Amino acid sequence: PLDVVTFGETMVLFNPEQMLPLEYNHKFMKQIGGAESNVAIGLKRLGHSVGWFSKLGNDPFGRYIHKFVLGEGVDTSRCIFTDEAPTGLFFKEKRSATDIRVFYYRKNSAASLIRPEDLDEEYIASAKILHVTGITPALSSSSRDTVFKAIEIAKKRGVKIVFDPNLRLKLWSKEEAKEVLLTMAKEADVILPGLDEGELMTGKLTPEEIAEELSFGQAKTIVIKLGEKGAYYQSDTERGYVEGFKVSQIVDPVGAGDGFAAGVISGILQNELLENAVRRGNAVGAIVVGVNGDVEGLPTKDEVEQLINGNHHSQD
Ligand code: ATP
Repeated sequence: PLDVVTFGETMVLFNPEQMLPLEYNHKFMKQIGGAESNVAIGLKRLGHSVGWFSKLGNDPFGRYIHKFVLGEGVDTSRCIFTDEAPTGLFFKEKRSATDIRVFYYRKNSAASLIRPEDLDEEYIASAKILHVTGITPALSSSSRDTVFKAIEIAKKRGVKIVFDPNLRLKLWSKEEAKEVLLTMAKEADVILPGLDEGELMTGKLTPEEIAEELSFGQAKTIVIKLGEKGAYYQSDTERGYVEGFKVSQIVDPVGAGDGFAAGVISGILQNELLENAVRRGNAVGAIVVGVNGDVEGLPTKDEVEQLINGNHHSQD
């Protein structure tokens, strides 16, 4: 039995070694990037059992992604390889540590061909939590149908749904995103938006107002990410702010949200108070921004505990 099942597109990432406009950069590190596999790897490092799947191109990049995620100890047994389309790719352009742009080569990718028939109902039902993001419904109509089918299975089979909106305006319009993300949020038990995403979805500006709207009068857990400031949380029984951890140097801010999700889900799986689960999310997010790459910086349970308890590594 798995703690968490998640699925969605993971691409090969060509991450620049130099801070230059992309057109002048010719050195890249080959890595992987995908919100759902980032969360899966993050959860695995924190000691949980996790399954992640996608439709991958039957090509060297698809095999690279598969081996990488499998190598992290995530169950990849439900991945599907296809000859119908290639694995998606993306390049990052880094002009400074915080000025980062992405260039996608993912249209009509293998992952966008995923369809509801690709889902294994028993596999999803075997998990405690289904994690889904708002990237999947933006990829294609079959991908959108698949994520809603997975949600339907989870609801029917009593699997808790964690939803991270992960708004990607390169993939769809604000209007289209708002409608679909709200529909997903209504179905979810736990929602993890950033402030900007909460604003787009509700039209409200403060974390308190956004959380109120996103709970739809139901018993939901809402955690709103506030970057370096930490996060705001609200459930049936708890609400408040948890301050972020101080980061000495931001190397790569991308992936913080996924690390945060892994930390919060880890806390929920351990039946912690929501406040403590959010603190764990803040700790993972803070550690991730200090390392280059989306998954390389995801910490182990010990590293998170050391940050939370204030014990820092020293050179013996
Ligand atoms: P992403 O860039 O991955 O999409 P996001 O926009 O979803 O991230 P952020 O609010 O930027 O989410 O970051 C998620 C969490 O990571 C924050 O709530 C916070 O806990 C932590 N975090 C992010 N940036 C910093 C920082 N500069 N200092 C400390 N903690 C940070």
